[in-house]
Amino acid sequence: MPGPDAESSGFRTVQFALKVQDTRIDVKAQLPEGPIRPAVLLPIIQNLSNSLSEIAERRAELLGRHVSCREGCGACCRQAVPITPVEAGMLSEWIAAQPEERKAILRARFRHAAERLEGSGIAQSIREASLPLDKGQIHVLGLKYFALGIPCPFLEEERCTIHPIRPLRCREYMVVSAAEHCAHPESKQVVGIKPPVLLSQVLGKWSASGEAQPFEFILLTMLDEWEAAHPAIEDRAIRGVPELLHEFLHAFASKNAASPAPNPNEELSL
Ligand code: SF4
Repeated sequence: MPGPDAESSGFRTVQFALKVQDTRIDVKAQLPEGPIRPAVLLPIIQNLSNSLSEIAERRAELLGRHVSCREGCGACCRQAVPITPVEAGMLSEWIAAQPEERKAILRARFRHAAERLEGSGIAQSIREASLPLDKGQIHVLGLKYFALGIPCPFLEEERCTIHPIRPLRCREYMVVSAAEHCAHPESKQVVGIKPPVLLSQVLGKWSASGEAQPFEFILLTMLDEWEAAHPAIEDRAIRGVPELLHEFLHAFASKNAASPAPNPNEELSL
């Protein structure tokens, strides 16, 4: 984010408040004056996602449940992680900007994951699936994927190496059952909690709105294939800040039927 003098150098301050359940979330950020790519909003959306997860965690605490997820436990990082097109574009660019040696390591891991997914038939079934998948399809696919034991390409020594920019879905995944169950999701002993609004779904819906072929999610480990099929997709979605923000907030509000029309720089109640 730009510093305090940014206002005079082509940036604008964007400010709004969201009321989710009984919690007010204040959002303030500085964004470029001119047209932007949707990914420029990602830091705002990621911070919002963190706040929503904290709401869920606090509510669980009130009921005597505690989130057991800890740094160094990467069991869930072998699950199928769906990401949105905006996140896919951002991660592809992030990888491309890494030093050559690091890039080669990551590319090799993605290639390895892609080969395993191809060999198992999962890649093909995802390509042929009509999206969005229903809950039953997601469950079956999730178990089949987990059984392959493919670590996320960003996982090292059971730690996420892209923690500050990790996907929304990773931020939203919180478990209140004993951590040892996470290695056996098929046992049905994993108990999770959900943020009051799933921003991964909001962003999936929002990013899908500008696409000729509607889709909501991309499998993180199939990032390379997606990137090759959608070069510079973000450049086609460049729009002014007010327009993008309004669109995103409308998508956010649509996750709660009681929400009024959103308006950046005014209060938004959900
Ligand atoms: S991005 Fe990070 S948190 Fe998400 S699955 Fe990969 S290693 Fe785990």
